[in-house]
Amino acid sequence: MGHENDCIFCKIVNGDIPASIVYEDDYVLAFTDIGQVTKGHTLLIPKKHQENIFELEEDTAAQLFRVAPTIANAIKKAFDPAGLNMVNNNGKAAMQSVFHYHLHFIPRYGKDDGFQPHWEDN
Ligand code: IMP
Repeated sequence: MGHENDCIFCKIVNGDIPASIVYEDDYVLAFTDIGQVTKGHTLLIPKKHQENIFELEEDTAAQLFRVAPTIANAIKKAFDPAGLNMVNNNGKAAMQSVFHYHLHFIPRYGKDDGFQPHWEDN
């Protein structure tokens, strides 16, 4: 289903490279982010290759957000964070580095959790 050549997330969808998969259905896949900005950092992607929000089909958006609460609650249960950021970067200028749509789930543990997005001051 992940058909785009040289797309790392299509390769994960196809099982060509390993990933720590936390959720899968016919349309979407969630797996552990290799970068782990905080403990439990997880990515949710569509299996069908779509570059970013500007290409995302409405059906795909629905499939992703239908499972988003399930992913968030699984992270909450496993890691007991105090909160959770859902982040989505679209385009190089917005810090997108993998051009296959993905939602970041970033658990937050308080001010010492090491993740300081640019919109947070101090
Ligand atoms: P972006 O900067 O919003 O595009 O996020 C891309 C994310 O993909 C980063 O957080 C990377 O750590 C993550 N990433 C890149 N390659 C892999 C991989 O092979 N497995 C899991 N996560 C990856």
